[in-house]
Amino acid sequence: MTTTAPPLPTPATAAQITVRNPVTGADIGTLPVCDAGAVAQTAARARTAQPAWGAQSVRERGRVLSRWMDELWNDQRAVMATIRRETGKTDGGAFSEVALLSAVTGYYNQYAPRFLAAHRRPATFPILHTVQVSYQPRGVCGFITPWNYPLALALIDLIPALFAGNGVVIKPSEVTPFSVIDALTRLQNHLKAASLDPALVGIVTGDASTGAALIDVVDYLSFTGSTATGRKVAARAAARLIPYSLELGGKDPAIVLDDADLDLAAAGVLTGALENSGQVCVSIERVYVLDGVYDTFVARLRDHASRLVQGNGDGMTVHLGSLTHERELLRTEAQVSDAVAKGASVLFGGERVPALGPYFYAPTALVDVTHEMAIMHEETFGPLIPIMRVRDEAEAVHLANDSIYGLSATVFTGDLARGRRLAADIVAGDVAINRAQLNFFNPAAPMGGEKDSGLGRRGGPEGLLRFARTHTVITERPWRGLLGVQLSHTSPLIVWAFGIMRRLRPWLPL
Ligand code: NAD
Repeated sequence: MTTTAPPLPTPATAAQITVRNPVTGADIGTLPVCDAGAVAQTAARARTAQPAWGAQSVRERGRVLSRWMDELWNDQRAVMATIRRETGKTDGGAFSEVALLSAVTGYYNQYAPRFLAAHRRPATFPILHTVQVSYQPRGVCGFITPWNYPLALALIDLIPALFAGNGVVIKPSEVTPFSVIDALTRLQNHLKAASLDPALVGIVTGDASTGAALIDVVDYLSFTGSTATGRKVAARAAARLIPYSLELGGKDPAIVLDDADLDLAAAGVLTGALENSGQVCVSIERVYVLDGVYDTFVARLRDHASRLVQGNGDGMTVHLGSLTHERELLRTEAQVSDAVAKGASVLFGGERVPALGPYFYAPTALVDVTHEMAIMHEETFGPLIPIMRVRDEAEAVHLANDSIYGLSATVFTGDLARGRRLAADIVAGDVAINRAQLNFFNPAAPMGGEKDSGLGRRGGPEGLLRFARTHTVITERPWRGLLGVQLSHTSPLIVWAFGIMRRLRPWLPL
């Protein structure tokens, strides 16, 4: 299937965004900043297209979405090239985006028909009533998305929204819009091929003003991005009383216990901290190592890090690419300077790598860090690994929880039961044991943040059902009349019946 030009709305204003390759500086393309009128028009078209999509069975919707995902999978080299052009990430990083979406689509294709099926629930008086709950699409769902995984994080929530029968409109990041435009244009073609209206899937390009306008015209808003923007999005959505979810920033801790396999822990910390050059919401950004194994762990980390490959070329053996954003490069440098000024030492790295490109920063570990340093509190979007020695397990958990964020966490231990016990005390949406970011690639389990890391969950039934409205039908059975018509809810018969039900309830089937 060939990709045709996307039907982007024509805005009334002449404002534009220019997208650049962060490695070469080359101009990738220019797109309009859609104004409120263009956004409203796109949402209205999605609204018109939605009933026909909503009328399809979940399995029929799944067939269209699976054909589209098959195309992305089969054409992965081209999809990855688009992602890499706008982000500067590695082949491996770009592949992970395609792989993740393929897993998400496969999961919902298998389970969404079951999760969305109408079903009976227990009635207060089962002899007299039946209760039926069904799920209906919300209408048009809006998505505002970031640049660090421009394809995966744009579509990871949009896919379940489509399974649930909704129309969708997305405002991709102004830094990396072409990955989304390319993928969704392909989806529009599959909708056309199935005699469905491609306007079901709308794309509005632009900046903060476009995102704000989108909140004003949708029935549900899914936001992935920074905590600062998330607060503004939440306030705007709350003013309209529409439901919303927020996937925000993190400062994820890793704890290395004294019984951990230290090679596994060192390699695991490098992977968890340096994936996408650290530009991951769920990257390891603080490492707490128990005193007894601290020196050995640090030596193993340095040893494994010496084998890291950073580069701007092709191939799945390159571990780190460029940073995408100059802003993140400057923030990374500022955090290292602040830490060093306050007494930290650079174990390795600590500088730019201009020979590879303007935004390349070397993988960097710091020791002798303390919680007085910004690097242990502020979110980092760069390849930084600050390491702290801790007395014991209790201190590690206390420091891990000493954060405004609570997205994810990792524990390295040889005793899985001990790891699970510790995990229960860490305030985070998920805790991985012996390998970071496990949850990110597991569409069946809920993922989301506590505290300033967000609100709501993606993944699993939770990540699907938020895009549906429950609709309950409760029916009086016909033989109720045999018991005599009651005109009041407080007749002596009702009082007697509640008394009986209180006794019977524990014995009734669920
Ligand atoms: P950002 O908040 O700057 O922008 C995100 C999106 O919001 C962009 O599309 C932007 O145009 C839009 N936007 C900006 N201001 C807006 C406003 N006032 N109203 C509506 N929309 C607005 O974030 P970013 O720099 O693109 O992404 C990096 C951040 O995203 C990091 O904090 C990272 O941790 C977070 N993130 C979280 C997750 C997660 O799943 N929890 C995943 C990836 C990234």
